[in-house]
Amino acid sequence: MTKGPVITGIDVHEFKFEVRNMERTGRGAAQYVAGGKSHITNVALVVHTDVGITGEYINSRITDADAIRLLADIVIGQDALEREYLYAETKRATQQVGRLGVGLIDIALWDIAGKFHGAPIFQLLGGHRRRLPTYASTWNGDESPGGLSTAKDYADFAEQCLDMGYPAYKIHPWRNGPVQRDIEMALEVAKRVGGKMDLMWDAACKYETLADAVKVGHALDEAGYYWYEDPYKDTGMSAFGHKKLRQLVKTPLLMTEFVRMLEPHVDFAIAEGTDFLRADPDFDGGITGTMKIAHAGEGLGLDVEVHASNAARRHAMAAMRNSNYYEMALVHPNAGPYNPPVFLNGYSETLEDIGSDGCVAVPEGPGLGVEHDWDFIMKNRTDGVEYR
Ligand SMILES: [Mg+2]
Repeated sequence: MTKGPVITGIDVHEFKFEVRNMERTGRGAAQYVAGGKSHITNVALVVHTDVGITGEYINSRITDADAIRLLADIVIGQDALEREYLYAETKRATQQVGRLGVGLIDIALWDIAGKFHGAPIFQLLGGHRRRLPTYASTWNGDESPGGLSTAKDYADFAEQCLDMGYPAYKIHPWRNGPVQRDIEMALEVAKRVGGKMDLMWDAACKYETLADAVKVGHALDEAGYYWYEDPYKDTGMSAFGHKKLRQLVKTPLLMTEFVRMLEPHVDFAIAEGTDFLRADPDFDGGITGTMKIAHAGEGLGLDVEVHASNAARRHAMAAMRNSNYYEMALVHPNAGPYNPPVFLNGYSETLEDIGSDGCVAVPEGPGLGVEHDWDFIMKNRTDGVEYR
C-alpha cells in the first residue's frame, strides 16, 4: 500500500500587520479614524513532512493556534494523507476545549495532499467551479464621523460595491446602539440598491432580546433581505429560539456560525432553527469538516454558506453545489486591509479583488495554491513555537 508523507513537526508563527485608518479604543474593536493605525495579529502554521513537502496555512485564529500544543503529539509521526483518521483523533483530543485547532491542522494537511498529488484542493474534492459569486461584507459601523457612521455611508458604500461588480452586500451594523438606528439604515440601503444586489444582514448576535431581533427582522422582511444572520444574544446557540424567530419573521435565517463541527450543525437544522447552514474551515474541523457539513446540508436539501475569506474557503466552495456566495470580509470604504498582505503570486483578499463578473477566482496551483511572503511574516513575527 502506498504510504503518504510522515508528519515530522509543526511551526506556529504569530505576526502582525498594519490596518490603515483604524484605531483601537482600549481593548475594544477598532474604529475608523482618519490617519489612525491599528494592527491585526495572524498565525502562520507550517506542517513539515519527511519528504520535504510542507503544508502552510495563514489565518487569524490565534486561540485555535494555541491549541496546537494539545494536538502536536497526536499528529507528529502520522501519515499526512490520513485526514479522516486525524480529524477524528484531533476532534476527540480537544473535546473539552471546543475543538480548537482541529481545522487549522486539517487545512495544512490538505495543502500537503495537494502538493503531494500535484493538484489544487478543489480538484481533489471533485470540484468544478473556477469563479465564485462574491458579496462585500462590511466592517461594523463607526461611531465617529467618516467611514460607516451613518445610514447614508452604508448606502453610498453599497452603491460603490455594486459599481465595482459585487452582486451582493452584507451589512454588519454598529456593534451597539439603538435598534431603531439599525432599522433605518437597513431600509435606507435597500431603498438605494434593493433589487440591484442581494442584501444580507449580520447582527453578529448584538440584539439584547428576541423581541428586538423580531423588530429588526420585520424591517428586513419589508426591504426584501436575502438572509438574516445571527440576530441576538443567545450567541447563535438556541435552535428553539431561532425556530420561534423563523415563525415570526419571513427573511431566511442563516445560523450555525457559532456552533462548532458537524454534529451540532445537523442538530440545529433538524430542530428547524435555521434556513441556511454556515460552515467555517477554521471552526468546523477544516476542509474535511466543512465538506461534511456541505454534504449533510445537501442531504437535507439546505444551502451551506462558507464563512469568511481565504484560499481554504475558496477551494471548499468550489466543490459545493449547494452554496450561493463567497464572503469578502471585511471591507470598508476607506480603511483596511483586514486580511494580511502575505501572498506572492497575485492572490489577495481585498475589496478590489472582485472581477467584473462579480466573482473571485479559485487558485489553480497545487494544494491551497498560494505562495506566502515569508520575509514579511518573519520580519513582523511577534511570537511562535516549534513542535518536533
Ligand atoms: Mg457572521
